[in-house]
Amino acid sequence: MLKKFVMPALLAAGLLWLMFGADREKPAQMQTLAMGTLVDMTVLGLGGQTNHAVIVSAMAQLRTLETQWHPDARKADGNSLLADLNQGLQQGQTLSVPPPLQGGFEQAARYAEYSEGLFDPAVGGLVKLWGFHSEASFPAAPPSEGDIAAALPAKRFDALLNGSQVTGFDGLRLDFGAFAKGLLLQEVSDKIHAEHPQASFLLNGGGDLVAVGQRPDRPWRIAVRHPRQHNKHLALIELKDGEAAFTSGDYERFFDASTADGKSQHYHHIIDPRTGWPSVGTQSLTVLHADAGVADAASTALFVAGDDWPQVASRMGVTAVLRVAANGELEWTKAMAERVELTPSEDGEVPLPRLRALP
Ligand code: ADP
Ligand code: MG
Repeated sequence: MLKKFVMPALLAAGLLWLMFGADREKPAQMQTLAMGTLVDMTVLGLGGQTNHAVIVSAMAQLRTLETQWHPDARKADGNSLLADLNQGLQQGQTLSVPPPLQGGFEQAARYAEYSEGLFDPAVGGLVKLWGFHSEASFPAAPPSEGDIAAALPAKRFDALLNGSQVTGFDGLRLDFGAFAKGLLLQEVSDKIHAEHPQASFLLNGGGDLVAVGQRPDRPWRIAVRHPRQHNKHLALIELKDGEAAFTSGDYERFFDASTADGKSQHYHHIIDPRTGWPSVGTQSLTVLHADAGVADAASTALFVAGDDWPQVASRMGVTAVLRVAANGELEWTKAMAERVELTPSEDGEVPLPRLRALP
C-alpha cells in the first residue's frame, strides 16, 4: 500500500515543490558572448520561470543594441547603425544621428567635454591603426610615428555633434568601446527594472557590473582583478542597489613588442588622445557610480588622466575611485575607502592606498 500509492504521491509532491516552491527564490543565471566579452546575468525574485524569461529577453535586447553600436560593418550581423554612419563620416559628411543612437551620442558628448577629451569616441581611427578594434589578433609592432600623427583626431567628439546632426572629417571612425558597455548595460537594467520593479539582478559584462535590488543570501559583490597577478584579486566591493562598478585596465587588450634598444614594451588598448599612444601612468582604475554609462566613460577618462585623475573625477561627478598607478601603488578616494575590502598581500599585510582628495 505504502509503496504503491504514498511513495509516488510523495515523489510527485516533491517534484511539484521543486518546480514551483524551492524554484521560486532560486536565481536564474545565463551567460552569452556580447560586446567582445562574456556577459553573465543573474535574476531573482520573480519566480523561476519568469527569472529565466527576463534574462532571455534582456539578452535579446543586448544583442540588438550591440549590433546598433558596432563601429564597423560585420556581415554576419547585418546592418549596424554606427557602422553605416561611420561610412559617411569618414568622408567628412554631415549626417543625422539615427534615433536609437541619439541618447548615447548626447551623453558621450557630455563626457568628452567634461573630461576635456581624455574620453573621446573620435579616437576610433587610432584604435584601428593600433589594431585594437579587431577581436581576432593584435599586431606585432606599434604603428609608425607618422601614421600615429596622421590619425590623431582633428576634432573632439563633442565638437562634431550639433543637435541630432554629426559632422565627420577625413578618416574619422567613431568608436564607443569605452562607453557602450556601460550605456547598454544601463539600458538593459532600466528596462528590466521598469517592467519588473520587484526583480533583483546582476548584469556582469566581463567584470564590469550593474546591480539592482538584493540577494537574500549575501550582498552583490565584485572582485576587482589584480592588474599584474592574474589569479589574484586586488579588492572586494559590495555593490549597493542600483550601483555600477567599471574598471579600465592595461591588461584587457594588448600586445608586447621589443623596442629599438631591445626592451619589451607593453602596448594596450586605452589610447591617450593627446599623444595617439597607449596611455601611460595607470595599470587599472575602478569607478563606482549610480549610472553605468558614467562609470564606464569615467573609468577610461580617469585612466588616461594619470596622476591628475581627481580633477577629472570631480568634473565628471565621480566620487568613488580606486587606482593602481604604473608603479603598482594604490590610490583611492574617501568614498571608495568606505566601500572596499582590500586583499592582503602574500605576507598578510593589507595595503594602505594613498588617499586623494577631490577638488
Ligand atoms: P574595456 O573595453 O576593456 O572595458 P574601456 O572601457 O577603458 O575598457 O574601453 C577601452 C576601449 O575604448 C578601447 O578598446 C577603444 O575601443 C576605446 N578607447 C580607447 N581609448 C579611448 C579614449 N581615450 N577615449 C574613448 N575611447 C577610447
Ligand atoms: Mg570605460
